[in-house]
Amino acid sequence: MTAFLRGANPADGSADGPVNDLVNRPARETARGLADAVTEHQRDAASVVSDALAAIAVHEPRVHALLHVAGADATARAARIDRELHADREHGRPSARLLAGVPVVIKDNIAVRGMPLTCGSAVWALTPPRRDATLVRRLRRAGAIVVGKANLDEFGMGATTETSAFGASRNPLDERRTPGGSSGGSAAAVAAGEVPAAVGTDTGGSIREPAAQCGIVGVKPSHGSIPLNGVVPFAPSLDQAGPLAGTVVDAAMLHQAMAGARNGRGLVAAALAGAVHVDLRGHRVGVVTEMAGLANAPGVLRRFNRCLEQMAGLGAELVEVSLPTVSGALEAYYLISSYESLATLAGLVEHPLLGDEARRRLLVGQQVSADSPSGADSSRGALADAWRLADDLQAAVDATWAECTVLASPTLPVTAPLLGNGLDDPLSTPRTDCWTVLANLTGIAALSLPVGECPDTGLPVGVQLMAPHGADARLYRVAASTEAAMETATQRELRA
Ligand code: GLN
Repeated sequence: MTAFLRGANPADGSADGPVNDLVNRPARETARGLADAVTEHQRDAASVVSDALAAIAVHEPRVHALLHVAGADATARAARIDRELHADREHGRPSARLLAGVPVVIKDNIAVRGMPLTCGSAVWALTPPRRDATLVRRLRRAGAIVVGKANLDEFGMGATTETSAFGASRNPLDERRTPGGSSGGSAAAVAAGEVPAAVGTDTGGSIREPAAQCGIVGVKPSHGSIPLNGVVPFAPSLDQAGPLAGTVVDAAMLHQAMAGARNGRGLVAAALAGAVHVDLRGHRVGVVTEMAGLANAPGVLRRFNRCLEQMAGLGAELVEVSLPTVSGALEAYYLISSYESLATLAGLVEHPLLGDEARRRLLVGQQVSADSPSGADSSRGALADAWRLADDLQAAVDATWAECTVLASPTLPVTAPLLGNGLDDPLSTPRTDCWTVLANLTGIAALSLPVGECPDTGLPVGVQLMAPHGADARLYRVAASTEAAMETATQRELRA
């Protein structure tokens, strides 16, 4: 583990050069505001979508967040939603569509009918799928409009979007830097103001990592809470799709729509409750010692600690918890995810157009599977060790719920690294996923909340909040109150 952390190079965050002004940027429109305006007939979906397409045209040359823009399709669907809403009004029917007219982009490892599906890879010239992934169908049923497909690391394998066969996306806050990955295009599209919300996938941190690096909210729901049919698997025991958005409430809106009636119930209500009743009394926040210490860059740690102070100020009790085995989590994650990726991708390992990183993962997977004895000896070998570590972590995390209601850590030990900062050794360059894999290995829900800029680099810092499997509503409740408190604190600081 120390090898990974040594690579997490706090010194990288030089403050020179431009960080696009976070404070004076025009306020992003929220999904909630847009959906309300469309439902109340103050705006029509057609104009919302044409604004999004215009923003995409302005920002894409700079950020390259998208692999496909679905202008005509989105415009036609917006017109259809407007017709439906007007018909509802004429007939006096209430139209309750959670995401009415909200433009979204979908990570390009998720099937959207009639749009290309590349997974960021040149090897996979699939014909555009004829069916939407279930989560896309649910978003559309809630009134969302898909305006494009977002860039990603090839097959989700990476943390910067640099392994995409179609070129890296750039961080809208500083184009010399990565937006993070693998859902980097989704995060960049939201942070640039192209769309208010996006969908990503997270196998080891791929929603939370780019969300933290772009200063937005990203959620890895509890494992299994959103159906993944129509989503190209990376490592099924770890994979989860989830939302990226500018606010906690907006993320909850997408999550609720994608999770469906049973798993999604109450998520938006919980987020709204947290935003309105800004109060954390009764919550015990477990600060994970191993993830909250000097392995993090000093400025990241300062922002994290300030967030904890705000949470305590709202009445939360801070509890120190220890997860000693977390030091082995990243290595276990690499072995398990590489092994599981073979189920879908093994046939591509010789493909001349496969990127180096994806090939390296497949070879690691083949290696561990060859080294793992089957049958009576199946408890030996690196893979068995990795699974044992995941089980131990699960037990350790489960034990913490007796003491705390949520866990907290920085989302990443660093702020967004410069592009081109070493793809050669995935286990030694800045490991932005060393704190995120825990939630994938244990299946719990985790959310990255932007908590302001790193005083050293001027770049966004994210705090990771985690809740037990199935307690996603609790996560939204706590995150929304924390978000409100952090906003007030930041405004106070700016005025001072
Ligand atoms: N950054 C991690 C990796 O490179 C996570 C990827 C993911 O969650 N899809 O594997």
